[in-house]
Amino acid sequence: MISLTGISKTYATKTTTVHAVDQVDLHISKGNVFGIIGYSGAGKSTLVRLLNLLERPTTGEVLLDGVNLATLGKQALREERQKIGMIFQHFNLLWSRTVKENISFPLEVAKVPAAERKKRIEELIDLVGLRGRENNYPAQLSGGQKQRVGIARALANNPKVLLCDEATSALDPKTTDSILDLLTDINKKLNLTIVLITHEMHVIQKICHEVAVMSDGKIVEQGPVIDVFRRPKEAMTKEFVKQVAHVQSDELMLDDVTLSEGEQIFALTFIGNPAEDQLVTELIRSFPIDISILQGNISKLQQGSYGKLYLRVAGEQETIVAALEWIRSKQVEVEVLKHA
Ligand code: ADP
Repeated sequence: MISLTGISKTYATKTTTVHAVDQVDLHISKGNVFGIIGYSGAGKSTLVRLLNLLERPTTGEVLLDGVNLATLGKQALREERQKIGMIFQHFNLLWSRTVKENISFPLEVAKVPAAERKKRIEELIDLVGLRGRENNYPAQLSGGQKQRVGIARALANNPKVLLCDEATSALDPKTTDSILDLLTDINKKLNLTIVLITHEMHVIQKICHEVAVMSDGKIVEQGPVIDVFRRPKEAMTKEFVKQVAHVQSDELMLDDVTLSEGEQIFALTFIGNPAEDQLVTELIRSFPIDISILQGNISKLQQGSYGKLYLRVAGEQETIVAALEWIRSKQVEVEVLKHA
């Protein structure tokens, strides 16, 4: 659906050349909710401008639905741009226009006939939950309502993709959640591809299927959200995992633990997942070793939260090795911290 291959964007300043985006490959399939996460200066805004066709890459190819954008003339590019909906951190609404009139604007630009426009506006008002607010001005709306107007406006011309640039960064946590719920709904109802650019890990965790982690213009890791954040390989990814680290227990004070002959301590690190609270029960059932939970509570982990569980195990060395392998096969990170 969206395919970036070998994309770079460099800016020449007086003194140096800045590689704002550096050899990026991204493939986003239809219906996906795809997150791009990075700190300030990572190259996210530049990537957004490449995705919404406001800028052309220095090198590389952008394909939208199989169409190579480099082959398009000005008019065709303008038409292609209309197929990309966009929402922003500060909403970018027209302050002198009502909710209805804001939503109407892109339809007017696209020369949609009045009767059709009216019908479409009504549908969009219902879709984003703004019934009753149609005639309000942006100044009379809360932040969340303003972003709902932004979403309705972005969807007016049935775009192929919705680009969200830090779209919840100006909202409080509760409003953020309600906007993310709305985006999830829209993704499901319309099978709309959504690309979210953010520096906030919880946004990615809450709604994205896949994620790309950006640093210094490069994508350092990408893949399904649960895979990337369960076993982060890169330092940058680990930093983001820490942002949401609702670690259930403190780090175990190893010095305080004395072990008897044959005993070991396993530390399991995981991201909350419905299957994980079964893990220890299954482990006890499957292996003839003594297992007790030394610290942590796996069943208290919320979906997507990050935690650690310390187990004291004792038994035949071979069985313990087999148990370790088995845990790893469940995609849970486990290490032996101490053994007697
Ligand atoms: P982010 O959105 O992740 O904060 P940006 O894409 O804005 O990152 O910037 C990435 C890098 O490219 C930064 O070092 C920034 O200073 C540089 N950059 C972005 N746009 C320009 C430009 N028009 N001219 C020169 N440097 C730029």
